[in-house]
Amino acid sequence: MGPEVILTFDDGPDPVQTPRILDTLQKHGIKAIFFVIGYKAQNHPEILQRIISEGHSVGNHTQNHSLFFAMLHSKKIAGEIDAFSQNIEPLVSEKITIFRPPIGYTNPKIARALKRRSMKIVAWSVRSYDSFKNRESLMSRLMKTRPSSIVLLHDNLEQTADILDEYITQSKAKGIIFANQENLKKFIHEINK
Ligand SMILES: [Zn+2]
Repeated sequence: MGPEVILTFDDGPDPVQTPRILDTLQKHGIKAIFFVIGYKAQNHPEILQRIISEGHSVGNHTQNHSLFFAMLHSKKIAGEIDAFSQNIEPLVSEKITIFRPPIGYTNPKIARALKRRSMKIVAWSVRSYDSFKNRESLMSRLMKTRPSSIVLLHDNLEQTADILDEYITQSKAKGIIFANQENLKKFIHEINK
């Protein structure tokens, strides 16, 4: 992995916040990975289209984002992964090989299902805890971003869309470089090796 920071956005698309986040990323020429939820992407195919057409990457965050995903039986785990692939891959016209489990927990059942499908988990190195609404503490956590980090954010949260521009602007001023499309493609290619 290069020095670039990769921003990842989970749990969208959201009809209000995702377009705001896409605007900010576009303004700064940054590309990110969106771990979308299958049913939400089906409800907002136009936002999914925008994510793809603006050069971002899409990851599998399961069809329904069950909070008990890691506790489901193997068959249901496989079903959640496959339903996403079947529903979303035709919309983005490509195979989606990267995965992030809901809540981030994995276990041998999930690992087996992913291995069988040649899919890889993308974890994170900076957790923003952006579900807490305090913008100041969110900013101070994010300002700890170091080169080569993978940052976990959520594109369904208003506070995340609110602070994104300031976070990127301040980080760039400190010399942080964010991923472009080529960096993302290379990153995804490498982890799938
Ligand atoms: Zn999630």
